[in-house]
Amino acid sequence: MPGLSGLLDMIFPPRCVVCQRVGAMVCASCLSSMEPPEAPICVRCGQTMPATNSPASGLCADCASGRGPKHLDGIRVATSYTGAVRPAILALKFRGQQRVAACLAPLMTAPFQSYIHSADMVIPVPLHASRRRERGYNQAELLARAFAASQGLPVRTDVLVRARATEAQTHLSQIERRRNMAGAFALSDPMAVKNIAGKRIVLVDDVTTTGSTLDAAAEPLHAAGAAAVWGLAFARPLVGGSDANDAP
Ligand SMILES: [Zn+2]
Ligand SMILES: [Zn+2]
Repeated sequence: MPGLSGLLDMIFPPRCVVCQRVGAMVCASCLSSMEPPEAPICVRCGQTMPATNSPASGLCADCASGRGPKHLDGIRVATSYTGAVRPAILALKFRGQQRVAACLAPLMTAPFQSYIHSADMVIPVPLHASRRRERGYNQAELLARAFAASQGLPVRTDVLVRARATEAQTHLSQIERRRNMAGAFALSDPMAVKNIAGKRIVLVDDVTTTGSTLDAAAEPLHAAGAAAVWGLAFARPLVGGSDANDAP
């Protein structure tokens, strides 16, 4: 017997939030158009690099010059913020389509398994309490829960808090973003340290651009003695692409 959501699906079959096809919140054809970032990518931050002069170090110019993530062991993303990814993320984030997360999360398995390999826990990047109240949910947490369940990993939402609301980053440069995010996250209470020390942690966010939010979220975790902290986001705008300036 179908559960309540199964019954509702029969009465109101879901439509793809990207192409409107009936059958799933994100249809198989739209999902298959969401491809991993083009190689070669930076071994540290996962950003696509120019194929012509990729350095022997494997590091992008930012990471090689110390402008890359400071508190993260590395960043990987499932796909680029372009094409079908845009309407899917906008539906998840701004149109209350929470079930989109379960459709997208399986795409995070490949970058996790090929780069991070294993971890002790998954932590979604928290929203500030006021933003969470306004939206009613944290889209990063929905992605984190669906991804973690598929990997058999625990999700912790009780150790990290967004200590202060931050200015929207859309029009900020990389340096301004870093300044904007500094100290934005903290452990929820001093006792949380014992849950973090020695642990390998995957921080999950929906979209990352420069990685400054993920990096700021990693700071208190590293300070609390985490063995490793990786950033895993669903999407990243293409470098220099027109989407880079309006990524949510
Ligand atoms: Zn579709
Ligand atoms: Zn890099």
